Amino acid sequence: MIPYSRQWISDADIESVVKTLKSDFLAQGPVVPEFESAIAKAVDAKFVTMTNSATSALHVACLALGVGPGDRVWTSPMSFVASANCAKYCGAEVDFVDIDVDTGNMSVTCLQAKLAECEKSGELPKVIIPVHFAGQSCDMKAIAEVCEPYGIRIIEDASHALGGAYQGSPVGSCEYSDITVFSFHPVKMITSAEGGCLVTNDEPLDSQIKLLMNHGITKKNEEFISTHSEPWYYEQQLLGFNFRMTEIQAALGLSQLSKLQEWVSVRNDLISDYKIATADLPITWLQLINNIQCSYHLAVIKVDPEIRLDLFNYLRQNDVGVQVHYIPIYRQPYYNLDAGHWPAAESFYEQIISLPLYPRLTKGEQASVVQLLEGFFK
Ligand SMILES: *Cc1c(COP(=O)(O)O)cnc(C)c1O
Repeated sequence: MIPYSRQWISDADIESVVKTLKSDFLAQGPVVPEFESAIAKAVDAKFVTMTNSATSALHVACLALGVGPGDRVWTSPMSFVASANCAKYCGAEVDFVDIDVDTGNMSVTCLQAKLAECEKSGELPKVIIPVHFAGQSCDMKAIAEVCEPYGIRIIEDASHALGGAYQGSPVGSCEYSDITVFSFHPVKMITSAEGGCLVTNDEPLDSQIKLLMNHGITKKNEEFISTHSEPWYYEQQLLGFNFRMTEIQAALGLSQLSKLQEWVSVRNDLISDYKIATADLPITWLQLINNIQCSYHLAVIKVDPEIRLDLFNYLRQNDVGVQVHYIPIYRQPYYNLDAGHWPAAESFYEQIISLPLYPRLTKGEQASVVQLLEGFFK
């Protein structure tokens, strides 16, 4: 089976993990902060906090921005459920902004219209969570401009987009957002097995994030609420969680990070090759907006909805592990909302299939995927 995505673990990665296993610290040692600094440098941001998943990171991001019962959070329906669940964990209501069918990203036009409408009914969101679908940044400048008059805070779900750039700045530089979240799940750009992180340039927000993901405990004198001089003193200031990443995970992630730029460029080359090889077939590739470096986490194609299921089955029967990213979140029984509110997401969902795309995909494997596509359409 050629999967839609898979990790690539090198001998150097294995050595890095083994070295950590033999060290004094499996948790709360020096490697997590080292990985945090390396990500901060890579995405050109001030503060990074590692977590045990992007799901935890999104949860903490919402809490740190004060999301709670009675609040509303809006995200994209064309995402993994975690982009919406994070608001539910905080007791908030979730709603979805329709997408642009050419990119799969949140539509700025729809966002603007929905904000104008909800301002009248007094149902504005506290936070919006744009998702960088398949690795292409949303139009963050436009989104920030639309949100600014309402004082809405922004969390970028960049789980797909580590190594990408928007208008010349790395995704994660938080130029147009409060917090950016990345995932290090094995199918994503680099992996720490499970893992994720939060990135911000706002120091008080960073302190709040670090409290929330570590039981609400601080050991920093300058942050203490009460006066204490005992050398063992630490203080729990709020009800937080244990969302910490282990040293073993960080050792893997840090080692993987050295490959990121190379892998982004391999993924871009593979997409170019796919586009050239399928130019005569009735399939459409996602469009890129101006001034984007796409990390290409996914190779999403659009086909006629009438043949999508047959093509999907044909590829699966021939050992190609295609997927559909994603079932719109509002369609999940837990959310169970009326799909009629999001016509673009519905139309997009009927057409999409994700083809295999990962740095270790060989030319031969790619050629056999293309051959199957040709065979199917003949
Ligand atoms: C993978 C993913 C997540 C969740 O990441 P985990 O690290 O598995 O928790 C959240 N949002 C999006 C868009 C994702 O693709």
